[in-house]
Amino acid sequence: MAELLTTWFIPGKMHYNYFLELCSLVFMVAIVVAYYSRKKFPTAVFKLFGVCLISVTVTISFDILSCYLLDHTDVVPLAIVEFVTEMLYFSHMFCSYLIFAYIFYSIGKTLKFEPRYYLTIIPTAIATILIFTNCLHHWIFDFVEIGSGAYDFKHGPAFIVLYIVAGLNLFSTILYAVTFRNTIPKKLLYVLLSIIGIFLIAVIIHIFQPEHLLYGVVYTMSMMFAIITVNDPDEKVDRISKAFNNEAFVDYINTQRTERQRRHFIVFDIESFGMFNEKFGSLYANEVLSSVRKFIESVNKTTYIFKTHSSRFVLLMRNREEQTQMVAAIRHRFSSSFNVKDKSIILTINLFYFVNNDIFDNTDSYKDFFTRILPTINFKDSNFIELDETFMNRINRDRRIKEILEQCLKEQRGLYMVYQPIYDVGKKVFNHFEALIRLDNDELGYVGPAEFIPIAEDSGLANEIDYFVLNETCAFLERNPQVEILEINISCAEFFNNPSYRFLKVIKEHNIDPKRICLEITETIAVKYPEKTKEFMQDLGQYGVQFAMDDFGSGYSNIARFITLPFSIAKLDKTLLEESKNIKIFFDSAVNLFKSLGIPIVIEGVETETQLATSKTKKIEFIQGYYFSKPLKEEDLQKFLVANKMA
Ligand code: C2E
Ligand code: MG
Ligand code: MG
Repeated sequence: MAELLTTWFIPGKMHYNYFLELCSLVFMVAIVVAYYSRKKFPTAVFKLFGVCLISVTVTISFDILSCYLLDHTDVVPLAIVEFVTEMLYFSHMFCSYLIFAYIFYSIGKTLKFEPRYYLTIIPTAIATILIFTNCLHHWIFDFVEIGSGAYDFKHGPAFIVLYIVAGLNLFSTILYAVTFRNTIPKKLLYVLLSIIGIFLIAVIIHIFQPEHLLYGVVYTMSMMFAIITVNDPDEKVDRISKAFNNEAFVDYINTQRTERQRRHFIVFDIESFGMFNEKFGSLYANEVLSSVRKFIESVNKTTYIFKTHSSRFVLLMRNREEQTQMVAAIRHRFSSSFNVKDKSIILTINLFYFVNNDIFDNTDSYKDFFTRILPTINFKDSNFIELDETFMNRINRDRRIKEILEQCLKEQRGLYMVYQPIYDVGKKVFNHFEALIRLDNDELGYVGPAEFIPIAEDSGLANEIDYFVLNETCAFLERNPQVEILEINISCAEFFNNPSYRFLKVIKEHNIDPKRICLEITETIAVKYPEKTKEFMQDLGQYGVQFAMDDFGSGYSNIARFITLPFSIAKLDKTLLEESKNIKIFFDSAVNLFKSLGIPIVIEGVETETQLATSKTKKIEFIQGYYFSKPLKEEDLQKFLVANKMA
């Protein structure tokens, strides 16, 4: 121990062995050149790592220089030796701080307003001041004359402070990494712990054998280790197109709040890409992707280009102007052919652009955007679409409605049924009713089913809504035996996956005659899934459940297919009541068609005396509309029926 302290505080004239340091320096320079010549996704983490590499190189240079100067104090002015040594200690200090900052950024925090941050910055600042004022107090290091104009280096009484501060920085780094061990990438945590281990070994060796300069070797090893394991820029680059890959894009999404805000997006898919792959082979297809990337780069070098999907490019720009220019350039370029490997091809793309206001806030919303919202964008009219504020607001509203629906279904609150009487012209009574769902919410107010049912269908909630509706309506039928037939809307997108016995089970639980239930199926669904619809209708039909064809006349009307299904009622859409010559012709032919098939008709949306008269003249059997009544809550419906002498 005594020997150790002697070596520590009063070293004899030492001849430093800095051969290893020189080798490390050569390596570090090569690493820095290689790192900066590679394409990198410019996150703060990558930038910070670049700073780390440079700082380490500078530190090693100062280490070598200061040792060399210490060996030549007889010829070099002492002030220069002192300054270089100060720089050496400062850069060591700075490196330990940088490692902390690197971990901090990797977890996705900014360096502001974090109490733990001060645990590193304050001691580092104190140490820096001590280092640069050393010439005044010589607390950190000093020189002792050893004759013939030469000096030797001597640690000052406060030299230990540097070790304490470096230790504190290290401690904060570990503390931070351990606190956020669930957020920090596992690989990074292991790399960090290994590097710290190597450093500790180097410190111990240095204490016992100070003449061997090992820090450069340790720094170089650590940096190479970090590049290979966690900081390889190539991992974020798509090998084929040389654009950034999906991983880089997810990085952007996760760290965008800490990055400089770039929020102007262009997204496009190459439509016929699968065909190129199949027809000309993957090498050719890869070349196509490369040409597209090169073209984008030629328009604007500062654009971040990601290839997030087989043939989907996402471009990220700094401002509106750049975005507009890029859209125009793409539009122009893709209207003419690309020459790829002696072939000339036209690439069709579907492109949309927007300013991101929180749809790409986190990975969930970004996935949601591509899986749920993107397929709803209609490229039929134009291949270039701007998703403007209205569109974005709709997206946000849709998302909120989905959350509210989930909550309502979970808590069984906010959703309820209303019932609209339907007039039987022949019997002059209200014996049919349509059940319609309602959603009332404190935040959004009234949301109509025409808005929330499609959202429910897209987000897998339709099934639950169907069962909610079925339970509510069966209970209603049980309480109101005077209701002959209740028409119930069901969300067809999902119901095929439900075996019909689940429907029957609910009906049985409420002890209801299935003949009182008439399920409404829309024309669009029946035409889209004719086989499944038929199966479902036949299954339930044999128990007496009836079916109404809803909204006839509002869609494509593949009548031939539609009429082969066992419907017992046809509901004509309210748009057929419009005062237009062509619609009137269609209306008449629809009425004739159902009359000749012997299917009774309900006309929806009758509001005026004239519409009522028209419906009666056409001998339509049932009339539904505000003319008689709006959809009513159960208690109001009972009052309505009393007033109309039905109860
Ligand atoms: P739908 O099945 O065609 O329902 C008729 C719609 O017309 C209802 O709108 C009703 O309130 C409205 N209506 C009735 N008479 C008149 C009138 O005279 N004038 C006008 N302008 N409108 C009238 P609502 O309740 O907003 O429902 C819209 C659509 O949402 C429904 O169209 C149906 O497709 C769907 N829907 C409603 N309730 C449910 C449900 O419980 N489950 C499912 N899956 N879908 C539902
Ligand atoms: Mg309906
Ligand atoms: Mg309808």
